[in-house]
Amino acid sequence: MFRDEAAPTSPEPVANRLPTVAELLPCFQEWLAGQHVESNALALLRALGNESAKVAHLTGRGEQLEFNAEDLVQVCWPELVDFDSAKMKVKNAKLEQYLSSRSVDREAFFAQRGLKHSLRLRKRSTSGHHRAQWSLEPYALTPQEETIEPHAASDVSHIGRLEPVGPGDAGPACLRIEYAYAPAGTVKPSWVARPLFGSGSFKTKSLRGLLFASTVMAPMACIALLAAIVWLMLFVNRPVTTADLAFFVCAAGIGWVLWDFVRQLWWLLADRIVPAADVLVRWNEPPAQLESFKQGDARIIGLVRYSATCPVCAATVELRYGAGHERRRLFGCCVEAPQEHVFTFDRVTRQGKTAPR
Ligand SMILES: [Zn+2]
Repeated sequence: MFRDEAAPTSPEPVANRLPTVAELLPCFQEWLAGQHVESNALALLRALGNESAKVAHLTGRGEQLEFNAEDLVQVCWPELVDFDSAKMKVKNAKLEQYLSSRSVDREAFFAQRGLKHSLRLRKRSTSGHHRAQWSLEPYALTPQEETIEPHAASDVSHIGRLEPVGPGDAGPACLRIEYAYAPAGTVKPSWVARPLFGSGSFKTKSLRGLLFASTVMAPMACIALLAAIVWLMLFVNRPVTTADLAFFVCAAGIGWVLWDFVRQLWWLLADRIVPAADVLVRWNEPPAQLESFKQGDARIIGLVRYSATCPVCAATVELRYGAGHERRRLFGCCVEAPQEHVFTFDRVTRQGKTAPR
């Protein structure tokens, strides 16, 4: 116990006492394997862990275990080969945020396994060549050394903390979020929706007319149904059978589905965007949206996707409807903390900020 209390503060002796990346990597990889919600950050960190593990035993020291964005992205998505898109992918994945927001859980995981050190992310920006190098570096778990930040107080460590929390913190810090847009044609439809969205979008000339007709038809159908029920009550005098009940349940179910469908179409026309039903999107694709826009006389309806990375915890952000009087407004909700990490959504600017409560 006393050995650790006399922790030296100068960087060199600390570095000498630090375990190597290779020693801590198995625990780090085990922690990553225990994370269940898939996100780009998690995939890239797993790639960084696996790639480091491949070479860690060769060097013995941690200094050479550096990878640039392209190295990491190629492991996860071999089809993305261009360095600039790889750099964007890594930037948008918010690796630092992923690790720092889960630091309590991660450090407890290391401590439970009897380790006094954990691994964190290190980004070394190289001048000239312009390819930042990512690596993992060990750091001590003791809280005294957390505040000292011996070295590598680079851009990584300060991003790790959320916006400054001042005294008397009145509310959450206002974080900004940027949505990525996948245009119609890049989102894969399910086989059910392939006839409509095979090319990503379809044109309709009289959607409004069709909707108007169906909206007029709905009350008329209700009136007809009521009249039929009154007629049954007055003139049919026989006991209720199972077939009657089954018919009633089926009619109510079909009516509700049709009503929901018509309402969604109205919202699509009025709001330009609605979340697409799961049956329209291929099962292994993330949730998508239906977007409508005008092109000449025709109206185009396309299957698109707005997605983002949570600036708090680096998980995926999905669009969902709000509650109460905002039940028709779309918000970006983090899949890990959908009630807490909530952001506004603007489909024109493709930006948002922490949603006010
Ligand atoms: Zn989040």
